[in-house]
Amino acid sequence: MSRGSAAGKRVFHVSPAFLARASDMGEADRRLTFFTRAAGVVSTVAKSAWKSRKRFGGMLQRYVLLDIAWTEIQGKMPVLESVSLSASFWSILEEWDRVRYADYLLELAVEIFPQGGPKPKAFDLLLDGMRSLSAGESPEKVARRTETRFLSIGGWGPDLSGCRKCGKTDGMWYRFMPSNGGVMCESCAAGSGVRISLGAVKTWKALQGQNAHGRGRLQVSDGIAGELQAVIPKYVEYCLGKTLRSLQGI
Ligand SMILES: [Zn+2]
Repeated sequence: MSRGSAAGKRVFHVSPAFLARASDMGEADRRLTFFTRAAGVVSTVAKSAWKSRKRFGGMLQRYVLLDIAWTEIQGKMPVLESVSLSASFWSILEEWDRVRYADYLLELAVEIFPQGGPKPKAFDLLLDGMRSLSAGESPEKVARRTETRFLSIGGWGPDLSGCRKCGKTDGMWYRFMPSNGGVMCESCAAGSGVRISLGAVKTWKALQGQNAHGRGRLQVSDGIAGELQAVIPKYVEYCLGKTLRSLQGI
């Protein structure tokens, strides 16, 4: 809170963004939370819902890439000023599975990167995920690719270079141990953790390091995809310390 000056400085921001959440605020206002490239999670208020609807048209949709502008005065909630459509991914709406996974990717971005500040890598991964879902790529594969990289750049690892205790790298089976942020060989784990094959460990490791240009190159068998599906979303929830709403239906 500033003392002395009558009003704080008004700062204007623009950024590519995805709408993550919308809710009513009081009688007329709407609270709109975006995941933006320039400033991470931004919660804005859209003054007077019906006026906003007129002003922003039908553009305040999920699953579309927006360009938004907002103003901020220190100590106050940012105010949404303008919205324009940059790219639409309408085909996501054609299949329920795509919608559920698009919701999952949005929730992941907001939860894994809750701090403000520029988020170009995370934003571009989210954008790539939306584009891939819209193009009809398998939602599970898009989810694995996106969440493994989100975790990695969010600082959650996990460390998959070998057994966390003895360093063994050639076991056929490992145990994934969320609390250790990695895997242990069967003898070190002594029955705890979730059983995971060497192939699944290697695939996860490859997904972590894959850059955008390597996209689509990695062939994941159904067996390994199933193993990763059983382990990674749970690890995400472990890291965040909460259950994700969007995972309920997946
Ligand atoms: Zn070991």
